[in-house]
Amino acid sequence: MAEVWKGAPVAQALTERLILRAQALAARGVIPTLAILRVGERPEDLSYERGALKRCEKVGIAVKQFNLPADAAQEALMETIRRINDDPAIHGCLMFRPLPGHMDEKAACAALAPAKDVDGITAGSLAAVFAGAGEGYPPCTAQACMEILAYYGCDLTGKRVTVVGRSLVVGRPLAMLLLHKNATVTLCHTRTADLAAECRRGEVLVAAAGKARVIGADHLSPGQLVLDVGINVDETGNLVGDVDFAAADAVAGAVTPVPGGVGAVTTSVLAAHVIDAAEKTLS
Ligand code: NAD
Repeated sequence: MAEVWKGAPVAQALTERLILRAQALAARGVIPTLAILRVGERPEDLSYERGALKRCEKVGIAVKQFNLPADAAQEALMETIRRINDDPAIHGCLMFRPLPGHMDEKAACAALAPAKDVDGITAGSLAAVFAGAGEGYPPCTAQACMEILAYYGCDLTGKRVTVVGRSLVVGRPLAMLLLHKNATVTLCHTRTADLAAECRRGEVLVAAAGKARVIGADHLSPGQLVLDVGINVDETGNLVGDVDFAAADAVAGAVTPVPGGVGAVTTSVLAAHVIDAAEKTLS
């Protein structure tokens, strides 16, 4: 049976350290503050928002919520982003995406001040992740995978890591973060010729395809460390990952569950980025 790598202890350990940093900031008169910008009321946004609010409260981060109706005009969104940029009391901003179809998401992302981009959506943040220079932060989900590997003691140096999924939110930035830790990274996608073989080769396998149970017994090899980023609803309405959990449990060395794995760590990473951004205003 594989070890089950839950996200909760990782989040807890991060949170404990963040509480101390938030207290140190408060002692210097700075209340770390996150802006949450939401357009519309998509259930998955509301659910993540509830988690983020709870985490921020635990850590000692204040939250300012900016909610726009789903049919808001682009200019209203841009004006809200300007207000967030211009408010010195706000250190970071989480903007839910995707934005409604009538909005120009690229323009909205580009408008956010990179120093406040705590979820890696601006070109500045991506440059920081890819080139190691500039302001901004990696996307929280990609960073959450790194936190899990570190917490459970996985030394990535020289390790073969296969990542399935090449989105700018997870796969690609994660590949860069893994490279920074000297892993040998293979990035797979829908056009990968033999996905199962590429997956089996990895000593660490990260699934971020967004397809229920696309990773099965064929894709797994004995002792592998398997991180399941996917959040999908299966045909029976259950929340499942990209990995067939029973198959991984049978052969892998460790596997993160869904729910309760990677997703449980992302709000702590978000909080860490806000604290970091607040600390930077003092230096
Ligand atoms: P996306 O749709 O933008 O990207 C999916 C990527 O996977 C693409 O690069 C695509 O080429 C690849 N892919 C899709 N099907 C594949 C297949 N059959 N074989 C090989 N590659 C395939 O999705 P995303 O935004 O990167 O999110 C990925 C998953 O992670 C989703 O399930 C999403 O819900 C989940 N997610 C979880 C968290 C979290 O906090 N745990 C956060 C963000 C996203």
